[in-house]
Amino acid sequence: MALIRKRKCPECGGEMEAKLINLHYKRQNVEMEVEVIGIPANVCTRCFYRIIPGKVAKYIDALVDPIFESESRIIEKILPSPSIDIQFPFISRDVYADQ
Ligand SMILES: [Zn+2]
Repeated sequence: MALIRKRKCPECGGEMEAKLINLHYKRQNVEMEVEVIGIPANVCTRCFYRIIPGKVAKYIDALVDPIFESESRIIEKILPSPSIDIQFPFISRDVYADQ
C-alpha cells in the first residue's frame, strides 16, 4: 500500500505530485531549530500546497518532540543552541507513491 495516493489539491484543484520535501521545525521559546530532509509528501504543481501523510507526520513528531523537549529543559546555557538535521535516506518514488 503506497503512502501517497494520486489526488487533487484541496486548495486550488491542481494536480498533486509525490516528492520528497524538507521541513523546518521551530518551537516557541526554544532557540534550537530542526531541519527534516527527505519527507515523502504530495505537492501541488500549481500552488505548492503540501500534504504529508498522517502516519509520516506522526513519526516525525515522535522524533522531533523529544529533541525540543530536552533543549527546553536546559537551565544553564553553556553553548548556543545547535541546528539539527534529520536526514532520511533517499527512497525512490515507486516505493512511497502509486502515481
Ligand atoms: Zn494547489
